[in-house]
Amino acid sequence: MNTGRRALLKGAGVAAFTVPLFATAAHAKGFDPGPGSDGVGDPLFPTLGNGGYQVTHYDLTFDFTPVTYDFTGEVTLSAQATQDLSSFNLDTDGHTIDAITVNGRSAPYALSVGQSGQELTVTPARPLHKGAPFTVTVRYRGNGKAPRVGLTGWRFGTDGGFASAVQSSRADTFLPCNDTPSDKATWTFHISAPEGYVAAANGELTGKDKRPDGSTLWHFALRERMPTELLGIAVVKGTYLYGTSRTGLPLRHVVPQGQEDKYGPIVARTPDHLAWLEAKFGRYPFSVYGVHIYDGYTDALENSTLTLMGTNWFKPNADGNPTYENTMVHELTHQWFGDSVTPDDWQQAWLNEGPATYYAALYSEERGWSVMDDKMKATYAKLDAVRASDGPPGLPKALGGVNIYDGGALVLYALQLRVGQRKFDRIMGLWPRRFRDRNVTSEDFIRHAVEATGERALDGFLRDWLFGAVNPPMPGRPDWAGVS
Ligand SMILES: [Zn+2]
Repeated sequence: MNTGRRALLKGAGVAAFTVPLFATAAHAKGFDPGPGSDGVGDPLFPTLGNGGYQVTHYDLTFDFTPVTYDFTGEVTLSAQATQDLSSFNLDTDGHTIDAITVNGRSAPYALSVGQSGQELTVTPARPLHKGAPFTVTVRYRGNGKAPRVGLTGWRFGTDGGFASAVQSSRADTFLPCNDTPSDKATWTFHISAPEGYVAAANGELTGKDKRPDGSTLWHFALRERMPTELLGIAVVKGTYLYGTSRTGLPLRHVVPQGQEDKYGPIVARTPDHLAWLEAKFGRYPFSVYGVHIYDGYTDALENSTLTLMGTNWFKPNADGNPTYENTMVHELTHQWFGDSVTPDDWQQAWLNEGPATYYAALYSEERGWSVMDDKMKATYAKLDAVRASDGPPGLPKALGGVNIYDGGALVLYALQLRVGQRKFDRIMGLWPRRFRDRNVTSEDFIRHAVEATGERALDGFLRDWLFGAVNPPMPGRPDWAGVS
């Protein structure tokens, strides 16, 4: 695979001939360090993430200055080698690296341009043994608005602050990391905010320290494992609003300062949304939830435990209905589908967006705002063309398309019509319980549907819907054939 590795093996072979006992012991140990790969082979982002190790915990200290957007960071990754490693990579983009240590010892490093950002290659002073835990600490700095190789994950509000929206590949614009959904870890954060600003992050607020310069260091802990794509940090002029769900789950929302009266009643809808979803999927999978509403963002994103939504969402529709609640339900559904149960790679993103789109549509129908069957019929009519241009729901050529969102929901609708409501509820309700905190694939879902129902024919049925070049017939809707 690489010349350095071959040379090492050759050297060992020579040693075996002259000093057999020593070589035999070395051979028994089989220590054969090589470089970790620069990607995990994601079909949509081949150099996203890195091979040779898995991160178990990130500890991130982030010192940000509003308005100038300068920041310094220090991140410690606790990891485990999955092969003998002479070097390994982190994903980064647009940072000045000041120092790196591995297991407390200074480690040389090199930056090179990767596919969607930069590759940071770290060479530990001593090679790492497969299975051994190790820590990497990187001190770095940068500016939120600095140019980058790839797109940015930074979102800037009118307050001079920022929020992170990094899905699917931009966590590396905030920290050197293993930027793949297949590597989930627990997190702690220490984020500074000057007077007048608050900090926010995934997980629970565990403490605050006032510093001599008047700023405050905010500490957060996310006890459940999270992939980098769901990083949700922010320093904003915001107000924390607190609540509890009907089952006692702590809620904390962040809304723009001075607009508490407007956004308070909106975020207060969360307990109803939670109760509606918990009745379907079981207990909410994290220890806290909330919505961060910010004018620096115009979309909605399911950052773990702290959904980010732009202020632009929150207007009633033409009929005067608060249909933005559909989006709140969409993002909350992701906490089960995507955040707790996470696809192994980005080509399986329908496992996130299919359920989130489906249950938002169902919520909308139950509130009397739209009719699910009409929506699904419209999707059915256009999906053949989308399959041809962008790929079927289970094999998309890129992220963000109708195939993954509406198409993914249509696959679930077909499944529901095929097996009936009771079995469908069983499939969807057991999925987040069975795969909680884990990574999954479409194959896992197909197997799960068969096992949860005892219907072996679902294997072929789901394959046709997920991977086929054209829509299969919709069960119970013969009149949809030829609809376009
Ligand atoms: Zn979504």
